[in-house]
Amino acid sequence: MQNVDITIVGAGSAGLTLALLLAPLGLSIVILEQGSAPNSADVRHQRVSALNLASQRLLSHLGAWPAIATTAQAYNQMQVWDADSFAGIEFDAATERLSELGWICENEQIRLALYQQLQRHSNVHFEFDCTINSLVQSEREVLVNINQQQLLLSRLLVGADGVNSRVRRDAQLALTHWDYEQQAIVATINTTLPHQACARQVFLPTGPLALLPLPNPTQCSIVWSCTPARAAELLALPPAQFNQALTAASNSVLGVLQLHSQRQAFDLKMRYASSWLRGRIVLVADAAHSIHPLAGQGMNLGLMDVAALAELISEAVEANKDFADNRLLRRYERWRKAEAQTLIAAMEVFKRGFSNQQPLLKLVRAVGMSGVNQLPWLKTQIIAAALGNSGDLPKVARPQTKAQHSA
Ligand SMILES: Cc1cc2nc3c(=O)[nH]c(=O)nc-3n(C[C@H](O)[C@H](O)[C@H](O)COP(=O)(O)OP(=O)(O)OC[C@H]3O[C@@H](n4cnc5c(N)ncnc54)[C@H](O)[C@@H]3O)c2cc1C
Repeated sequence: MQNVDITIVGAGSAGLTLALLLAPLGLSIVILEQGSAPNSADVRHQRVSALNLASQRLLSHLGAWPAIATTAQAYNQMQVWDADSFAGIEFDAATERLSELGWICENEQIRLALYQQLQRHSNVHFEFDCTINSLVQSEREVLVNINQQQLLLSRLLVGADGVNSRVRRDAQLALTHWDYEQQAIVATINTTLPHQACARQVFLPTGPLALLPLPNPTQCSIVWSCTPARAAELLALPPAQFNQALTAASNSVLGVLQLHSQRQAFDLKMRYASSWLRGRIVLVADAAHSIHPLAGQGMNLGLMDVAALAELISEAVEANKDFADNRLLRRYERWRKAEAQTLIAAMEVFKRGFSNQQPLLKLVRAVGMSGVNQLPWLKTQIIAAALGNSGDLPKVARPQTKAQHSA
């Protein structure tokens, strides 16, 4: 039997970030991962995420950012438009006195960079290719049986095991979920016109299509969300016909678009655990909530979850208190649920507002978008939320004040 302070289930972006935030506290940490260790051979721009400035500050604080930036593309403009009316909103970094609005980062490179940083900490251990056989808890500990024979006793267990969380299921934490009735097609594409570091999204009647700039100036990653019927049609098309449909859907904004990679499809569901903890088991990131990718906020939200949890655990350790105390975990849950609920509601408004073809709503939408584009103060509020600079941020993700900057 092995005794540890904290077990983290899942070595995705959330689990690895949490381990790296907690490692300097000297606690013994084990990460259980069903897959293999992050590997540079898996970094191929297949899956990317738009990270906001709050996430970038967090990853910089952890020393992982320089390695992530080697395969990331900054974007300093954003264009969003409605395919029906051509009404749109544009944001640019210069107006906000920033050098960029965010970064398109390779998911596997994020994992790899975090994993490399974790190699410096001898108090953090990994179990890759790991199978969890059972998970039970008493008042003071959580017992996990792994790989049929090993027993692991921990004071706190964190479920960072993604949308189909086994931890959530075993801890009997109820899930609210609804189907967005959309699938997302993800692929890397070549463009004939350069993307000019602009992240674009067009709202089509069947769902949004995002064109996210990659380091090659004529390559983008697409996230094309559409009804399952339309997705099935698009996936079945030969590449040449898919390219035609994609170019038409994008209104040829980047010229002719051509597939550079395979197409991958993801079911889109809203998931929200009504409780994020039971005893000494707590959920973070996609294990606790998953949202529509249209605003590119899922990973950002998860990274802020783990930064918030780590902040509260650090305070408890420094004060010589129980870091798995129920009041501490409830504080984490209240803090982060408020942020997750706001985003879930916002995604619903966007999704419903843009997929509705009622003429009056279409008019309101067009007038609303053009109106917002003319109002600099409102655009500044919207962009602050998208950049991750608003809301109740964990300390490590807050923007630096001028005094801190000059110190
Ligand atoms: C199409 C699409 C586009 C997106 N775009 C963006 C974007 O632009 N910006 C953004 O911020 N977010 C985006 N997201 C959301 C983002 O991808 C997720 O929020 C994020 O990857 C979740 O990280 P995680 O660590 O919680 O979960 P995961 O990345 O799913 O990691 C969970 C880990 O747990 C492991 N695991 C699972 N079960 C077990 C088990 N029983 N035992 C051991 N290990 C286990 C898995 O192998 C995995 O390594 C997008 C999502 C989709 C679907």
